[in-house]
Amino acid sequence: MKRLSPVSWSLLLLVLAFPLLPVPEFWVTLSNYIGLSAMVALGLVLLTGVGGLTSFGQAAFVGIGAYATAYLSTAQGCSPWAGLFAGVLLTMLAAWAIGMITMRLSGHYLPLGTIAWGLSLFFLFGNLELLGKYDGINGIPPIRIGHFSLDSARSIYFLIWGWLLLMVAALGALLHSRPGRAIRALKGGVVMAEAMGVHTVRLKVIIFVMAAMLASVSGWLYAHMQRSVNPTPFGLNAGIEYLFMAVVGGVAHIWGALLGSALLTLLKDQLQTLLPALLGSNGNFEVIVFGVLLVLLLQTSRNGVWPLLTGILKPLLPASRPLHTVQLADALPLEQRSQPAAGTLVLQVQQARKQFGGLVAVNDMAFSVHAAQIVGLIGPNGAGKSTMFNLLTGVLPLTAGSVHFHHQGQMRVISGLPSRDIAALGMARTFQHVRLLAEMSVLENVAIGAHLRHKGNDVQAVLAGLLHLDRRIETRLLAEAYRQLQRVGLADMAGAEAGSLSLGQQRIVEIARALCADPVLLLLDEPAAGLRYQEKQQLASLLRQLRAEGMSILLVEHDMDFVMNLTDHLVVMEFGTNIAEGLPQYIRQHPAVLEAYLGGIDA
Ligand code: ADP
Ligand code: MG
Repeated sequence: MKRLSPVSWSLLLLVLAFPLLPVPEFWVTLSNYIGLSAMVALGLVLLTGVGGLTSFGQAAFVGIGAYATAYLSTAQGCSPWAGLFAGVLLTMLAAWAIGMITMRLSGHYLPLGTIAWGLSLFFLFGNLELLGKYDGINGIPPIRIGHFSLDSARSIYFLIWGWLLLMVAALGALLHSRPGRAIRALKGGVVMAEAMGVHTVRLKVIIFVMAAMLASVSGWLYAHMQRSVNPTPFGLNAGIEYLFMAVVGGVAHIWGALLGSALLTLLKDQLQTLLPALLGSNGNFEVIVFGVLLVLLLQTSRNGVWPLLTGILKPLLPASRPLHTVQLADALPLEQRSQPAAGTLVLQVQQARKQFGGLVAVNDMAFSVHAAQIVGLIGPNGAGKSTMFNLLTGVLPLTAGSVHFHHQGQMRVISGLPSRDIAALGMARTFQHVRLLAEMSVLENVAIGAHLRHKGNDVQAVLAGLLHLDRRIETRLLAEAYRQLQRVGLADMAGAEAGSLSLGQQRIVEIARALCADPVLLLLDEPAAGLRYQEKQQLASLLRQLRAEGMSILLVEHDMDFVMNLTDHLVVMEFGTNIAEGLPQYIRQHPAVLEAYLGGIDA
């Protein structure tokens, strides 16, 4: 974990010791509210900002946590700690069940789904006799720690903020670990993440459950602080406000959750006294002001206030330190796959067909790739080359035909398998349209490729990440990523944001990411596009070196000189069909190829 600077230490101390200062009680109460909503917003940062999943329904999970403990500690006379346990357990089950259904939804269906459950849980709280209907439950006891009763704003403050800061630290650790990178990869699109071997649906459910648990603990604390609950704070309005907080603060930044909660809680407090006086009547007018402010803010800073703030403070903050190259050099190398002997059949495509409605994009294609061979797949634009890649890697299902891939000395059918399983067998790819996470460092982008180099249960991995227990494997993975960057000649760029590189360099970063998977077969979709002459030469010598090390490569490329000088075998596609294949010298003179392809391209 990063060492804290003296400024951060002082701030941390100030926050923790705040109630000990001679500040008015009301300030402490407000801080408690800020802390409670920041917990929920923190879950939303993970879910929405990092994972790309929008939820309007977090308030319902706060409600489950609050009502569970309210009911148990009043009607059943249980201790608040039993209430916490029951509330979190119930939330986990509910979130898991809801997540299994809704996390498969895409686009607008997911936010709509979250609105639906937000509303239904609200009405459930309001209609259950057991939960006191719309009047709620009163007489909730305070939390006790040993002989201490947390019955004042000042005393419960320590629990709220202590827990919140712990969660901030834990999430920060998680996001810079292997499962955290996989979570961040979700934003780069499901296709990319799955191609790196990430089980995207499972990860989405996991972060959804985590966000719900954070909300639930906030509800537990709220119930015992307030000493009473009713359905209002757990309705859809509240759900929208939590999302506001996360977005205003900066939904992609952990600290944005705290900042957003502080800004909105303070603003709401001011507006609730100011607006009725100004307008002469009561009502939830602050919601309108929030809406207007949000629109204004998003016009000026789409990423919220946190990036604005760090932008202003940047000159004051210590510069980020270079990567710990020494530490990386000491890391134990990862285990490597044994490559099949040169000449062994590694990929066999038989009568592969893909139809998009009436369009036959790939028409009964057949070809094969042998170990330690570079095969070029060429053809005019729209010939079906990228579609062929998608069929091989499991992104698209075949309409007919089959694909076999080498696995433990045998050829095994891979058509029909999901991308991540094909990746696990040793097929790694790059994308024609680069899919990197622009705001993530080059090194971390490359490390996503090593996702499958460490096996293990996703839930355990996330827990280890949160608790910072995975540092050894983490160093090994980063060292591997650094080694691959050295291999492709971009080690100098390891610490840069991927989005700051030229497009040509980004393509090379994609190759490094694919190499991180230690593949048997490397699929490169137009890797030399956008490269300068010198860079193309370097790429060609890298690919030759990989071939010499026994790797098999399938390559789509338009630059004929590049392809002719590099490949061992060429397959020519036109309108989805294999029109010729053979040695480069042979293809160069093939009449059908000259007519169909070389004549038609603006080389
Ligand atoms: P290439 O990579 O050789 O330039 P593509 O494989 O991208 O060609 O495209 C082959 C054909 O399939 C094109 O006519 C393209 O418009 C079509 N195509 C590709 N993907 C889809 C899709 N998802 N849905 C419909 N048509 C598609
Ligand atoms: Mg293409």
